[in-house]
Amino acid sequence: MTVTTCRCSICGHIYDEKIGDACAPPGTTFEDPPPDWRCPVCLVEKSRFAPFASPLARLGL
Ligand SMILES: [Zn+2]
Repeated sequence: MTVTTCRCSICGHIYDEKIGDACAPPGTTFEDPPPDWRCPVCLVEKSRFAPFASPLARLGL
């Protein structure tokens, strides 16, 4: 099963593979950004993110 969203445990920012972010184009899986990729909001390490599945994620919330 593929994880498509991960949530920052610190600030709640959600990384969505379909959307990407400033450092990752849409379609970039959470494994693809470099190990030093950090939360664009609170700058914690990627390891602080946890798989997250919610209907809200599909709405971009
Ligand atoms: Zn964060």
